[in-house]
Amino acid sequence: MEQVLRMALQAKGRLNEGSLKLMDEAGIELVIGRRNLVSPARNFPLEVLYLRDDDIPQTVAYGAADAGIVGENEVLEKKEEVRIVKRLGFSKCRLSLAIPQQTLYEGKSWFNGKKIATSYPGILKDWLNSNGLESEIHVINGSVEISPGIGLSDAIFDIVSSGSTLVSNRLKEVETVVTSEAVLIANPNLEAAKQAVLDEFIFRLESVMRAEGRKYILLNAPNEKISEISAILPGMKSPTVMPLAESGWSSVHSVISDRDFWEVIGQLKRAGAEGILVIPIEKMIF
Ligand code: ATP
Ligand code: MG
Repeated sequence: MEQVLRMALQAKGRLNEGSLKLMDEAGIELVIGRRNLVSPARNFPLEVLYLRDDDIPQTVAYGAADAGIVGENEVLEKKEEVRIVKRLGFSKCRLSLAIPQQTLYEGKSWFNGKKIATSYPGILKDWLNSNGLESEIHVINGSVEISPGIGLSDAIFDIVSSGSTLVSNRLKEVETVVTSEAVLIANPNLEAAKQAVLDEFIFRLESVMRAEGRKYILLNAPNEKISEISAILPGMKSPTVMPLAESGWSSVHSVISDRDFWEVIGQLKRAGAEGILVIPIEKMIF
């Protein structure tokens, strides 16, 4: 019998949308019952278990779920035995120390003897130890950023992405301790049949992620310009060149990355390319 891979996802919050989008891009159709804790997939041997993100590392480590999608920050904090199988590139943030804006900061020793509010005591303790610092850690779950303002702490250790929350609470970021993004984690002792399902899931994710930031390009060029144009286009292998009905002309197809898109287009035009078409790519399979 085929094994069903049980995947833990955040039920609601900042990781939920990105996680469900990945399922969708991997072609996995979930039977969404809003009230259900578990939703099976219609067309793939997988079921989703919806949890709070705090509980995902432990659930995967204990094998109540086989895999999960969670912020790397939670994996580092919880120190459960899980494998990080893939970094997913969304929900990027960092865990930083911040202090009131007007406070003079001359280095890490500032934190000695200070009270720091955080929801990440484990990561903070490790950082303080490795820097030989002694501070008082005050654990709060939620709205950490208001605690210096109301006199609960001298500093905070919290998630930062744009930094706007810090600014609106008159805080400044002084040390970045770790960076984080959503990661796919798995139980370290998956049985072979479940590992095979996970491998297929990863293969699909990679095909989608590889296509991100790339475009398919088609253009027409006189035959004598083809080698010059091919040199401009990197592509997966070498570009595809096909003769046009009009003699002496060919159609050239390739893949280019968004990063050097306008640069490449300029070079192609100067090299004599005409009728350039650029098309989005959904997936790339190697
Ligand atoms: P839960 O109810 O599941 O416990 P939560 O309130 O603990 O949710 P969220 O705020 O939904 O957590 O954040 C989930 C994860 O998203 C964080 O652990 C972190 O990895 C990432 N994250 C948090 N804030 C941001 C942000 N501002 N920008 C990008 N990623 C973020
Ligand atoms: Mg949480």
